[in-house]
Amino acid sequence: MWLSRWFRPPRYLLKLFLAIMLVLAATLGWLGWRLLEQDRALENQRTQERLDNAADLIETSLLRQFSESEDQLTGLSALSDPELSARASGLTGQSAGSAVIIIFRPQGVDAYPRNGLVYYPFLSSAREAPTSTFEAGEALEFQQKDPAKAITVFRELSRSKDPLIRAGALLRLGRNLRKVQQPREALDVYDELEQLGATPIGGLPAELLARHARCVLLDELKRTIQVKQEAGALYANLHSGRWQISRGAYRFYAQETRRWYSPDAELQAREREALATTASVELLWEEWQRIHRGEGLSAGHRSLWLFERPMLLAWRTTSDRLVALVAGPHYLEQHWLLSLQPLMDRQGVRLALTDAEGHLVLGQFSARPSRQAVRSSSETRLPWTLHVASGDPQAELAQQANRHRLLILGFTLLITFVLVCIYFIVRAVTRELEVARLQSDFVSAVSHEFRTPLASLRQLSELLTDGRVSSEQRRQEYYEGLSRESERLYRLVESLLDFGRMEAGAREYDFELLEPAKLVRVVVDDFSQEISERGYRVEITDCDRLPAVRADQEALSRALWNLLDNAVKYSPHRRTIWVETAREDGQVAIRVRDQGLGIAPHEHRQIFKKFVRATSAKTAGARGTGLGLAMVQHIVSAHGGEVRVSNQPSGGSMFTMLLPPAKE
Ligand code: ADP
Repeated sequence: MWLSRWFRPPRYLLKLFLAIMLVLAATLGWLGWRLLEQDRALENQRTQERLDNAADLIETSLLRQFSESEDQLTGLSALSDPELSARASGLTGQSAGSAVIIIFRPQGVDAYPRNGLVYYPFLSSAREAPTSTFEAGEALEFQQKDPAKAITVFRELSRSKDPLIRAGALLRLGRNLRKVQQPREALDVYDELEQLGATPIGGLPAELLARHARCVLLDELKRTIQVKQEAGALYANLHSGRWQISRGAYRFYAQETRRWYSPDAELQAREREALATTASVELLWEEWQRIHRGEGLSAGHRSLWLFERPMLLAWRTTSDRLVALVAGPHYLEQHWLLSLQPLMDRQGVRLALTDAEGHLVLGQFSARPSRQAVRSSSETRLPWTLHVASGDPQAELAQQANRHRLLILGFTLLITFVLVCIYFIVRAVTRELEVARLQSDFVSAVSHEFRTPLASLRQLSELLTDGRVSSEQRRQEYYEGLSRESERLYRLVESLLDFGRMEAGAREYDFELLEPAKLVRVVVDDFSQEISERGYRVEITDCDRLPAVRADQEALSRALWNLLDNAVKYSPHRRTIWVETAREDGQVAIRVRDQGLGIAPHEHRQIFKKFVRATSAKTAGARGTGLGLAMVQHIVSAHGGEVRVSNQPSGGSMFTMLLPPAKE
């Protein structure tokens, strides 16, 4: 029903407009979505550019630091021996044990700090006591199996002024004392031997040999606590690089100490650190050998993964020496990353360095960073791959989400605004169309109202002028008919003009004191005459002692006439109309009641608007202009009263004009 009304012309124009507007709103929505997408892409691009920029800056800064370090090495390698040692120890002093300067020379390997290496890839042969010195004692010990005599010989030798002879003699003396079951004396001898420190015996320091021998002896004596203590101290000294020993010696003594002592996790970590540095030096040594063969690189740098930690090697060579920096993760962090920190903070990024095998060398590295700038080692000449990611990706995402929310809100508001506009435009146009329709209905209704009396007038005047009416009585009737029709026409025109004036607010009322019952009676009398021919009658019920009202007689009569006229017009089957005067809520009520078509309750308010006609009337095909009730409304309002309509339980409707009683 509602839809079918929509499909009547000129609604299609409205539909077209609506469709265009909806397409517009949809386009707006689509544009908004596209904008969001673009914004996202742009933001990604901006972030990527920022990261690339930061990566470039970091790369430049790292390269600068790198070349500074390499320049230092070049400077070092050009120095003469004593200066070189002084400068090297000065340099590594700054690195707080996390880096070692290594110098390879034909005469041996030097490490700065001196205890930086756990073992040495190459040991220059030191002067030792000639083995012939101990031949006599050893012959007694091993061939004649007479340790007691051997003790006398070795004790004699242990008093030598030459520490080399003394060291060799003490070691042998201790061994023989153990053989003759004099462990306490042996322990004293080892104590004395320990005092000789690095004095070499068979390429090993006297101190190391003495302390190890003490541990073995203490173990034999079941002095568990003491052996554990001494083995622990030996272990610590071994890993702090106290002695220049070979890898084999280190391995042997490290394993030996573990027989009596198990280091904790922290010590093990330190051991691995020292071993990583030492292993790096071993690799450098191999490189140095290659350089001698004309194969290795005379200068370079390399990142290595040793003992689960990243190591950096940088070296320079001259014809007779190699100077290298061996740095662990702590050194890299302290010297390189820390100096980069302000730059990273400014750029809002964080850095991770990985080696060729993907090990994390430095920094934080998230496995799947949303966006990052990567610089591979082949691009940068650095030994690592650089990964530069956002410093706080969560905050960035939140910021982006906020901007998107704002954009979405903006577009939603825009679309809502467009939809609201569409609604109001459609409503206004619908109303205009409705008014246009009502007006056209009105024009056709008015034309019809005019046509009926005009047709009668024309017919009657034709009959009269043609002289075709012979009977005087008939002629008289025709004249009366002429007068009645012209009166009807006049009333119609008058009421239209009157309505026009009312609408324009130009209708003047001539108020006077009136008795409502009397006015009703006069109007009903006139009206009854008009309708009696058609078989209708009006029944009046008066109310006694009704107060007077201040009213314009003509206007109020017209209002009542309109109500009566409607009652008759819309009661095709019941021919009685009831009129009552009464008091209602302290007011004077004039009621007109019928048992006709009635009015649907939802139309009760509408029918007082001009041109509006109820469905029941239209369905029954009753003619009308839709002005009568609007006029009644105008008049009653001008009198300070109101009009009400209600349906009757027995069918039909009742209109009530409520007028305020006149003040005395
Ligand atoms: P009209 O010239 O159409 O009668 P009115 O303004 O007098 O115009 O009335 C408006 C509409 O109210 C009518 O078209 C009719 O549908 C409805 N109406 C008015 N009076 C009655 C009534 N007594 N019974 C049923 N319907 C009525």
